[in-house]
Amino acid sequence: MAVTTHEIESIVRQVLAQLETSVSPLTPSQDRGDHGVFERLEDAVAAADAAYKKNRTIALRESVVKVIRRAARTNARRLAEMAVQEAGMGHIEDKVKKNLLVADRTPGPEILRPSAISGDNGLTLIENAPWGVIASVTPSTNPAATIINNAISMISGGNAVVFAPHPAAKRITQETIKMLNMAISEETGIANLLTCVKEPSIESAQQLFTFPGVNLLVVTGGDAVVKAARDITNKRLIAAGAGNPPVLVDETADLQRAARSIYDGASFDNNIVCCDEKEIIAVESIADELKQELSNCGAMQVNRDQADAIAREVLLDYPGPNARPNPKWVGRDAAELASAGGFSVPESCRLLIVDVDRETDYVFARMEQMMPIIPLLRARNFDEALDWAMLLEGGRFHTAGMHSRNIEYMDAMATRINTSLFVKNGPHVAGLGAGGEGWTSMTISTPTGEGVTDARTFVRLRRCTLVGSFRIV
Ligand code: NAD
Repeated sequence: MAVTTHEIESIVRQVLAQLETSVSPLTPSQDRGDHGVFERLEDAVAAADAAYKKNRTIALRESVVKVIRRAARTNARRLAEMAVQEAGMGHIEDKVKKNLLVADRTPGPEILRPSAISGDNGLTLIENAPWGVIASVTPSTNPAATIINNAISMISGGNAVVFAPHPAAKRITQETIKMLNMAISEETGIANLLTCVKEPSIESAQQLFTFPGVNLLVVTGGDAVVKAARDITNKRLIAAGAGNPPVLVDETADLQRAARSIYDGASFDNNIVCCDEKEIIAVESIADELKQELSNCGAMQVNRDQADAIAREVLLDYPGPNARPNPKWVGRDAAELASAGGFSVPESCRLLIVDVDRETDYVFARMEQMMPIIPLLRARNFDEALDWAMLLEGGRFHTAGMHSRNIEYMDAMATRINTSLFVKNGPHVAGLGAGGEGWTSMTISTPTGEGVTDARTFVRLRRCTLVGSFRIV
């Protein structure tokens, strides 16, 4: 019996229609994702798991990291512009610098070195093994830079990553993931080394805290997410939490240099980088001269009334013990803050300073404001200044800084304050390799203690012992 072309087409259409209705669109194999972005969390995790299993060789990791660096450099400005547009925080030029910093100075697989113990009883080898699928919760403040940085560090360790983006920065985070995945798969044929869900939420982030198949949880964010992760997760946790970094200036400091460092550091990306200087503690005898030097750099001195007027606009529940930054105002320009307070400063001004004398409880001193308005406190002497720095850092194990030429003072502060980053005589971002020595990271593990993370943070150490042989000497 002859069958016409028309009949064949009709049969094919019927079979396809049947297939569409008989297979749920939510079946994991059905959703191939959009370059790493999936409707369902289970598909994002399954795809990352499949990708991790292909991330086997050192040569492959090296070429993936090379591709990430290249793509991140090429797209640094576009991603910076998107981030400022979506989240409304920070400076485009500073975000370009952050994207380039992480592209260039996040270490790759070369930082991982196996070690060996050789002795009369034979040879033991200690290897850096991957965890597999890592869940990484990322902040709104450094969306693209955190993805680029985590991608390089975690893939270098042989892993794949499911990201939980901040909902307020989901488009820029997803665009970064897609752009990197496309570049990686074009070069290596491996898809989905980086994944996430299309509609991220607090709930989907919390699901990852206990998700089967995820072996390591990395959280970069504020106090609430660190607490939630600690309370809920059943996995190894690396937590990069909030800070409130003080910078202390003593009577021996080079005040011109201190002012330049503080002005550049505290205003970097409008103060949203977690290690940026958040309050200045000056020894009384040099406080006026330091203020003058800060003004010479371009900082505007605002009085208490003006600062209070800004606080009323940009903080929630102010005044009161629960005053906190209104997310709408985080990372806005100094000129916008001034205008919220009912006065104006030149557009070129990047930092507002308010002299609060001895008021350590002043609202912008005790909180992590993440805005370019910084209090200056006057301490009687170094010992009092250090007590105040301890109080305001608040045991967060994050960042502190100091400007001094007195080695004993520097030693005393470094020892007592016990932060993950301690920066002397430079802007705090120098501690992240921006103008100081060392590698960079956008995930500075604070309460859990891994410090400035890199590929070594994201591996499991495994030991393999051969008894009685292979000692070749
Ligand atoms: P955030 O805490 O509001 O959000 C961070 C991430 O956690 C987001 O993905 C968010 O969706 C998620 N989240 C928030 N609360 C949660 C909860 N209860 N359960 C599950 N997930 C939750 O922070 P942000 O405003 O995006 O970023 C700024 C904060 O992050 C600051 O406190 C800053 O110091 C900190 N930070 C720390 C580092 C570091 O390396 N230590 C780096 C960047 C930012």
